[in-house]
Amino acid sequence: MDIFSQIAPLRAFLEQKKLIGKSVGFVPTMGALHDGHLTLIRESHRENEITVCSIYVNPTQFNNADDLASYPRTIVRDIEMLESVGCNVLFCPSNEEVYPEKSIIMFDFGTLEQIMEGKFRPGHFSGVATVVSKLFNIVQPSRAYFGQKDFQQFKIVECLVRELKFNVQLRCVPIQREKDGLAMSSRNMRLDEEQRKNAIVFYESLQMAKGRLEEGLSMSFVREEIKKHCESKPGVKLEYLELTDTLNFVQRESVTSKAILLIAGYVGGVRLIDNLLLNEN
Ligand code: AMP
Repeated sequence: MDIFSQIAPLRAFLEQKKLIGKSVGFVPTMGALHDGHLTLIRESHRENEITVCSIYVNPTQFNNADDLASYPRTIVRDIEMLESVGCNVLFCPSNEEVYPEKSIIMFDFGTLEQIMEGKFRPGHFSGVATVVSKLFNIVQPSRAYFGQKDFQQFKIVECLVRELKFNVQLRCVPIQREKDGLAMSSRNMRLDEEQRKNAIVFYESLQMAKGRLEEGLSMSFVREEIKKHCESKPGVKLEYLELTDTLNFVQRESVTSKAILLIAGYVGGVRLIDNLLLNEN
């Protein structure tokens, strides 16, 4: 695997590859890799001749300094994992390389970010859009791979690509889960044994909510029930549970057509998210 920390040599390397007709797949990450990330790499590998992964903990998407400081960083292990799945290129730039001056650009995604992650993490998606734009301009991939785990992020990136005419095809890869159903996440590394057991409550809640909606109960009722269920576990706090359509995140009271349940909450000091697509066909 070729490893770059600077933009210019990465660009020169990729330009050479593109000149001889190689397609480039791109997987942006914040590192502390797990099998969810590796699934994106495998998917890229399947569709492209060259796969580029970036590892960069982007400060502008964190609205909480403690969360940024405690975000896990495991670069040595990450490199081994990327090599094990045949990733071709790793880009791991410094903050100075990505933000040589303080960023003053602000993105506003309107209704797409007025609920859920956008509401509870003000400025988060502006930071995501800024770094994704920079990375797309640096790598200029044919295809880019994102996880359904961050579904709202995927929709934001889709909007960014559509509006700014980035010449890239986006792929949304299904959520990879641990055996008990917990969505894989870099943040799971921060859970102690007890918290790890309780963290399953969010996936459990999605399944419970789906069942209750199928029984014909309203989302307002289900939300209250799930809140009580979550908060019956020590250290667990529900931040939101929403039922929305999958196009514009319009909130729903019942499942009429294609919809998604999205959940976020804390186990101790660790913030986790998960979601479940409903009526996929
Ligand atoms: P992150 O490093 O958390 O920023 O994630 C990098 C990419 O991996 C994002 O597109 C995530 O949606 C995706 N991802 C994270 N966790 C999972 C998972 N459990 N399954 C599939 N994709 C994931």
